[in-house]
Amino acid sequence: MNQIIEELRSFLSQPQKIVITTHRDPDADALGSSLGWASYLLKKGHEVTVISPTDYAANLRWLSGMEHVLVYEKASDQGKCKKKIEQATLICCLDFSALSRLKDLGKVVQDAAAPKMMIDHHLEPEHFAKWMVWDTTAAATAQLVYELVKEMEGGLPADQIFDIPMAECLYAGIMTDTGSFRHGNVTPAVHLAVADLMRTGFDSSRVHRLIYDNAPLSRLQFLGYVLCNKLTVLPEYRTAYMVLTEAELQKFNSASGETEGIVNYGLQVENVVMSAMFIERKGEVKISFRSVGSFSVRDLASTHFSGGGHKNASGGRSEQSVNETVTRFLSILPSYQEELLSVD
Ligand code: 5GP
Ligand code: MN
Repeated sequence: MNQIIEELRSFLSQPQKIVITTHRDPDADALGSSLGWASYLLKKGHEVTVISPTDYAANLRWLSGMEHVLVYEKASDQGKCKKKIEQATLICCLDFSALSRLKDLGKVVQDAAAPKMMIDHHLEPEHFAKWMVWDTTAAATAQLVYELVKEMEGGLPADQIFDIPMAECLYAGIMTDTGSFRHGNVTPAVHLAVADLMRTGFDSSRVHRLIYDNAPLSRLQFLGYVLCNKLTVLPEYRTAYMVLTEAELQKFNSASGETEGIVNYGLQVENVVMSAMFIERKGEVKISFRSVGSFSVRDLASTHFSGGGHKNASGGRSEQSVNETVTRFLSILPSYQEELLSVD
């Protein structure tokens, strides 16, 4: 880490043209960490552009700097994105470690001449970056951005380095990736980072409200529909799953992001230790997995559904029909039964 800090300090001592990008369907950690890192680099006098591969959920629009984020998938932004990437002298890749997580933008980033820097906490990274700030014990990429900025600034107290909007962006990432400080990834370092960020005087309760209590009525009605009609529990496998078709998403006018987090509800059922959600969207099935304790949904997602992520939160995809995908999921459950039943 020390060597990376030295090299970065030297590289960033000259004004650079920096592109920051993050994974498709970005969540609060993806965008919060990207925008927090962007604010820091802007303050240091660099030219910075944040590019998201796809659109993002409406409850993230308030994050500071979001108004300047370019969306690669948007026809009106794509030309600008390509130009910025072509001119870039550094490309920062935050909250992902496989270029496939960038969708169509992956090839553009891969082919770009600029050196890359990764800041991430996912397992088994690809090695495309010159500088890797990578730590799977970090609860959030936003935590890594906090730690990196602190090191770059010689460990000064947060209120001398960060301003309120930056602290809000980083807090949003840490809060959401820890499930509001509930998950197994919460460590002393998480609470210490947050305690330090709070020196800036930002209102953590407001951040919580803006993220979690800021949904259109349609999202709550959709959630009600899913829990009432689409949640199946298989007690013999301690597993809950939900299947959503494209027609249902359209009926509830569900925008990208409106399904975010719904998979977690499966884990609220007593005795359930794995929850899965299958979403049919644009000719593919997107799958989200969540688990508790020792059961690794990352292994399940990477072995069977071309995916990955973390031990207790992973995702994958399938090009089969939604019915075929669910049938395949059900058919592999017996091979995991013993492991599922042994979770504490
Ligand atoms: P979510 O279910 O919220 O989309 O994703 C949960 C976790 O799994 C995130 O950490 C995300 O990075 C990871 N993940 C989701 N989809 C994929 C995928 O298709 N491939 C890989 N490698 N990771 C994924
Ligand atoms: Mn993350």
